[in-house]
Amino acid sequence: MKCPKCGQENKESAKYCSKCGTSLTVLPFWMPTWKWHLRALGIIYIILVVLFFLLRILLKSYVRPIIENW
Ligand SMILES: [Zn+2]
Repeated sequence: MKCPKCGQENKESAKYCSKCGTSLTVLPFWMPTWKWHLRALGIIYIILVVLFFLLRILLKSYVRPIIENW
C-alpha cells in the first residue's frame, strides 16, 4: 500500500511506512493538497491585511496623534 504522507510503496501487511514511519492502519479521510495550502495562506494573508486596516481605522479614531507619527 502507498504511504499517504510520502508516497512510499509499502507491503500490504505493513503497519508503518518504511520511509517516514507514518501509521498505515488508519487512512486519512482528507489530505490537503498544495493548492489547498496556497488558498489557506491567501485567506490568512487577506484576513491579516483586513485586520490591519480595521485596527488602523479603529486606532485612528482614538489615538490620532500617535498614528500620524507612524
Ligand atoms: Zn511514508
